[in-house]
Amino acid sequence: MRINPDKCVACGNCTYVCPMGAIFIDPIIKRATINRDECVECYACFNGLSQEHLNPSLVRGIRGVLSKLRIRFDPEPDVCPTAAFEPDDLKWPRVVRRAFSDPRVPHESTGVEGRGTEEVKTNDVSGRVKLGEAGLTIEFGRPAVGVRFREIQEMCIALARAGVPFEMKNPVTSLMTDTAVGTIREDILDEKIMSAIVEIKVPVARVEEIIRLIHEVEQRSTTVVTIGVGARCDSDGEERVVAPILEQLGYRLERARTNIGIGRSAA
Ligand code: SF4
Ligand code: SF4
Repeated sequence: MRINPDKCVACGNCTYVCPMGAIFIDPIIKRATINRDECVECYACFNGLSQEHLNPSLVRGIRGVLSKLRIRFDPEPDVCPTAAFEPDDLKWPRVVRRAFSDPRVPHESTGVEGRGTEEVKTNDVSGRVKLGEAGLTIEFGRPAVGVRFREIQEMCIALARAGVPFEMKNPVTSLMTDTAVGTIREDILDEKIMSAIVEIKVPVARVEEIIRLIHEVEQRSTTVVTIGVGARCDSDGEERVVAPILEQLGYRLERARTNIGIGRSAA
């Protein structure tokens, strides 16, 4: 994303909508500017603000005159008054930023839509997590922190060393160079994205060990790491195997989602 300095009138509206805090008013050129290294190409600025097409010179002139009278002239807060945003034609590797940051575009770079795989949400149909297993989602970057692939790779390498296999239909897995080692393509390691989810599955007996491992790697990380746990309910609709392990680890459990009969049962 770029801001056209010839159009920008430095009203500052866009600085509030960027979830990464990547837009600032440059005091030297007196225009809104995007920190390209921090921008994740989420398009929240371009799509989130209405674009008006006022004449930039006219707006600057009016603002200048009124400011001399100590009167502020600001556009409505949800508007870029001069349509100054100009999306870039993104090329590899920068295009992965948008794929993992703008929920409205598919993962062009990975061939996988969404940030995770469908199976973890529809286990009653897919049967991916079996009795005696737990499916873990490890989410990086949300809310509003972002993450670089280098940090995701650190977690993946630790998991691979522990012998944990990765979900193959997952967008992050599709960007790995070696799933047995957990390495991700070198050319995207410094790309920053809004968020990503690594998906794994472990036997129940390893849940405590793997959660402790994730926590240990997270301590060295500069981003937010969130763990989601998927497990099979018993015939009463309860889960009494994985839940006690999590409670023993100090987690207060909230059942976020129970899937029942939304499709053909895999049981
Ligand atoms: S909203 Fe538009 S005119 Fe206002 S600072 Fe941002 S880019 Fe410039
Ligand atoms: S595309 Fe997203 S991250 Fe980049 S400047 Fe716009 S709002 Fe901020």
